[in-house]
Amino acid sequence: MASAFEGPDGPFVYARYGNPTVRALENAVADLEGGAGALAVGSGMGAITSTLWALLRPGDHVVAQNCLYGGTQGVLGDLRERWGVDVTPVAAGDPEQVRAAIRPNTRVLFLETIVNPTGEVVDLPRLAAMAREAGVTTVVDNTFATPLLCRPIEHGADVVVHSATKYLGGHSDVIGGLMVFADAATRLAVQERTAEFGAVLDPFAAWLIVRGLQTLGVRVPRQCASAQVLAERLAGHSAVAAVHYPGLPDHPGHGDARRLLSGGFGGVLSFELAGGLRAGRAFVGAVRLASLAPSLGDVKTLVMHPASTSHRQLSAERLAQAGIAEGLIRVSVGIEDVEDLWADIEQALKAAERHH
Ligand SMILES: *Cc1c(COP(=O)(O)O)cnc(C)c1O
Repeated sequence: MASAFEGPDGPFVYARYGNPTVRALENAVADLEGGAGALAVGSGMGAITSTLWALLRPGDHVVAQNCLYGGTQGVLGDLRERWGVDVTPVAAGDPEQVRAAIRPNTRVLFLETIVNPTGEVVDLPRLAAMAREAGVTTVVDNTFATPLLCRPIEHGADVVVHSATKYLGGHSDVIGGLMVFADAATRLAVQERTAEFGAVLDPFAAWLIVRGLQTLGVRVPRQCASAQVLAERLAGHSAVAAVHYPGLPDHPGHGDARRLLSGGFGGVLSFELAGGLRAGRAFVGAVRLASLAPSLGDVKTLVMHPASTSHRQLSAERLAQAGIAEGLIRVSVGIEDVEDLWADIEQALKAAERHH
């Protein structure tokens, strides 16, 4: 027992400091991401807050991509208001904007590999190199890409975070988060904080995520292939005004996505119905194979209409500012037969056209 209390990676003595099932998950995800080590926590948000709180102190500065996951934006707002950490949002598609935003007190650059719902992909190697030169730690949320499409540490990232609730778990039956570190020292520093916060992962949840990892290499390529087919067909449909998917050649991030991602462009796409709000409601009410549900990365196809659900409190004007069209539909493509999925989408598009 004395040796167990010696250090965080000694024998297991108490589950908040470490557990063998959780450690098995951490080792597996560290391997997948090519990192020196990983830490699992209770959710993706737990991974994001643990990382930021461990790296930052009052007076520090963060440069953040301007269209991050809503929960991440909430944490960054909190850091600014409550903890005296200044945050500069940047259009990370423009590396010069990122360079201009970095100050002497900048500690963290926060990016996502594939941004929701626009499908933006940035020039990660260039941005990470720029950050490293300035002594800034690059943190990348790799939830949408998974380590199958992109291993950000190989492109210069220092910390990778995941919502394991999505693709790593893969079945919408577990909540969890992972942090993967390029160097062991950062892992140790963050581990001290996670033991304090107590936001650790339950061992059974870890077991479920390890179960999910066993099929990651089968699920993700199929989801990407189906998303590509659906995106191409949607782009040619009369009820659809625009499709946002980095696998389409006319997507603004297509060039960066081709360089950064391998094996596919992700399993999530979004499209705008020409019929706006009413058409959006009609579409999600009409799907039969797909489920109307939040979250993503499930083996089942999930659809969302942000303007009538997650973003319903915003006025038409604020929606437009947030880049969310009233007829925007997000699809997280599952592993069903792609022709079955297209048949379902096609009949729901007909219902949407009737409400135009
Ligand atoms: C869902 C999600 C999160 C938050 O993860 P939770 O497991 O729900 O806490 C963070 N980042 C991205 C990109 C996500 O999709």
